[in-house]
Amino acid sequence: MLRFRRTVYCDNNATTRVSKKAQKAVAGLLGRCYANPSSPYRMAHEAAGILADARVCLAKAVNAPPETLIFTSCATESNNSLRAIAPFLPPDKRAILYNPLEHPAMLETLFHLERQGFSLIALKPDRQGRISPEEMACAWREDVGLAVCMAANNETGTLYDAKAMAAVAHARGALFFSDMVQALGKIPVDLLGSGVDYASFSAHKIHGPKGVGALYVREGAPFAPFMLGGHQEEGRRAGTEGLHNIAGFAAAAEDVPLLLAGAGGLCRRRDALAAALRELTPDCVVNSPSGTECQPGTISVTFPGRANAVLMGQLDYYGISVAAGSACNTGEDAPSHVLTGMGLSPEEARSTLRISLAHDFSDKDLRYVVAIFDDVLSGKGDTVTAVQPSRLTPEMFFAPDVFIIDLRRTPKTDYTLKPLPNSRRFPFFSIGKHLDEIPKDKHIFVTCEVGYDAPIIAYYLRRKGYRRLSFLMWGILGWKLTRPELYARFAGNGETQDDRQNSGEEHKDG
Ligand code: PLP
Repeated sequence: MLRFRRTVYCDNNATTRVSKKAQKAVAGLLGRCYANPSSPYRMAHEAAGILADARVCLAKAVNAPPETLIFTSCATESNNSLRAIAPFLPPDKRAILYNPLEHPAMLETLFHLERQGFSLIALKPDRQGRISPEEMACAWREDVGLAVCMAANNETGTLYDAKAMAAVAHARGALFFSDMVQALGKIPVDLLGSGVDYASFSAHKIHGPKGVGALYVREGAPFAPFMLGGHQEEGRRAGTEGLHNIAGFAAAAEDVPLLLAGAGGLCRRRDALAAALRELTPDCVVNSPSGTECQPGTISVTFPGRANAVLMGQLDYYGISVAAGSACNTGEDAPSHVLTGMGLSPEEARSTLRISLAHDFSDKDLRYVVAIFDDVLSGKGDTVTAVQPSRLTPEMFFAPDVFIIDLRRTPKTDYTLKPLPNSRRFPFFSIGKHLDEIPKDKHIFVTCEVGYDAPIIAYYLRRKGYRRLSFLMWGILGWKLTRPELYARFAGNGETQDDRQNSGEEHKDG
């Protein structure tokens, strides 16, 4: 029981806790300094000064001249800036060599450029996501004008040598763009020393606020603004600066040396966790590289035969937040492109968790996480029954004491995956507000679209005191694929138990 008292956040590659210092900087500014930094009068001078100071702070953290840094709304925007940069490539250099394990913020930008007529050449990562500068040189083609490779992978922590890759690109007369979002605060970032032409950063990955990022443009590198409008950021990014967020980013950036100083301890706890997991389940596979080839704090682990969605739900039940490393927030059941790009099968990708630790992860947290993994993996922990889609029959969804929850992430109703009959729709993100509509005296059967949300909510309901619970494995999509005839007949027909009793159908299904 004591175990419920602990909350251990292990998803720091998704976002980090906002530091006290960053919170203070944001709140202080919101209350005090609201003038527009672009305005000419005296009141705005303080705002302009804060903006300039913030740029200097970030510049120190990444070793770059302040004027080469442009504040943006997030790293996604910084990566999207490539859409305005790529047109500078000469007509005979319109191919882009890229790491296929990039974050979607970069990948989708590249795919957009491909639709605009640029050609893409994917590099070939190994089983741990690594790509060496030599491999980049080997894959080079005459028509490559730009190379793109992140400095640290968000799903595995795999590190890439930005300096050597920039040198490969420059030696061939090309530009080099590096997404450094997951590198800042984890490994030293030295923009001038590395020679990269463009780099992106995000405040919320280094304990700063959300909604602010930065783009580095090397002095002299071709550039056109992606956001058009006013003359902010020296005409390089239109839009009134979110000064409070920028001040929070600067406060977080000031602490980058502290984060780097703690990297050794973080590596030690990461390695201890990996070793403990290997001891608990010798067949688990750590996908991240080891030692200095991996960002401190990140491990990607495959637990063969275990659905990551269920593990996530079970760990969440015990207060531990981890990521599935999969496109679990889309309407599709696409396994992680990073993991499959490294050679994992879709099944292995769906059995993989990403655990990303921050500096506040203590030895006590480590012991707790290992103890809970032990309970969960050995089956000693509290469990909710998982119903395989092949076992879902009409008797189950029309059983008199079953209450079926149909979880949806958006309020739209033109579902691609139709709900089970006799089910009630509930919003995934705010189901907590609807607990009084979920009866405690019935068996609660939780369903969702593609399989990630149902276990999380089933275990959440367990925590809320519901005892008779089960959930549909692999979601309605899994059921549709396993029992297409039942899906075609029943899904989305809106039939209720009462309709069924009135029509006497229940006797016909056998
Ligand atoms: N690039 C990488 C490697 C990331 O991990 C993320 C966020 O997860 C982003 C870009 C996007 O950052 P933001 O949330 O600031 O748009």
